[in-house]
Amino acid sequence: MAAPGLPFDDRDGWIWMDGKMWSWREAKIHVMSHGLHYGGSVFEGERIYDGHIFKLKEHSDRLVGSGQLLDMPLPYTSEQIMDFSREVMEANKIDNGYVRPLAWRGPEAMGIAAQACKTHVAIAVWEWPKYFFPKSGDNAGLALKTSKWRRCDPRTMPVQAKCAGIYGIGTLAKHEADRAGFDDALMLDIHGRVAEASGANLFVVKDGMIKTPVPECFLNGITRQTVIKLARDLGYTVEEGHIMPDDLNGVQEIFLTGTAAEIAPVSKVDNIVNLPIGPVTERLKSAYGDLVRQKPAKAA
Ligand code: PMP
Repeated sequence: MAAPGLPFDDRDGWIWMDGKMWSWREAKIHVMSHGLHYGGSVFEGERIYDGHIFKLKEHSDRLVGSGQLLDMPLPYTSEQIMDFSREVMEANKIDNGYVRPLAWRGPEAMGIAAQACKTHVAIAVWEWPKYFFPKSGDNAGLALKTSKWRRCDPRTMPVQAKCAGIYGIGTLAKHEADRAGFDDALMLDIHGRVAEASGANLFVVKDGMIKTPVPECFLNGITRQTVIKLARDLGYTVEEGHIMPDDLNGVQEIFLTGTAAEIAPVSKVDNIVNLPIGPVTERLKSAYGDLVRQKPAKAA
């Protein structure tokens, strides 16, 4: 569950929207926005560590790419989005926090066709120290419940778009898990293979080897790609392959990766309980913590 906090429409601070900085409470959109009625919006989630946005270029490229995948070209380049993101981070004086760029189809026309709608863009920044609050305690691993909801067929939606419309499934799965006393959902794909959690990718460790599902039906997370490289650099073998739910019975460690979640250990999946927060997860967590705080090299 999310930590209690101020409502998101009643905070101090600044939100960049459509080319200018708005005070947080004034950053509003019209109720007839196409993005609200038909799910036409794409977004990003980024983390700020010590005044730098980690993987800002990768996230900004993905935002622009998500817009293209939805046939919703953004009116800005990735480089411009990077500049606006830094501006709003500085305006809010946040050195460690979270960045949420968002692009949506506006209220200029109504109906499924959206060619006449403008693409609007906003960027908000806030402090968000932790994404997961495990019900078993702050230092416990997460408990996942396999959801009845599946990740969608890549022929149904462009699954590599970080598109708001797809998140309805994650919200249903997360609510289902929460009601049953778990922390998050384990989502399968249309073939019944292990896919990911509601908002983070999944890795398993078996006999010292790391394995993660192939991102055919779900987002190939930037953290997932970062952790695969990090683990290989540390000398681990990382295999991308299909994982069936039964395969989880023999694993020693499971962890999730995501920008908000960072590296989050899992201690339970349905009836598989008492998974330890093991040495591979610990080592990657610590190496990831070091990596995100490395200062980016200055452009020549
Ligand atoms: N899957 C889903 C459904 C997500 O929402 C996220 C978070 N964006 C991820 C995976 C992880 O992606 P990333 O590492 O790029 O944050």
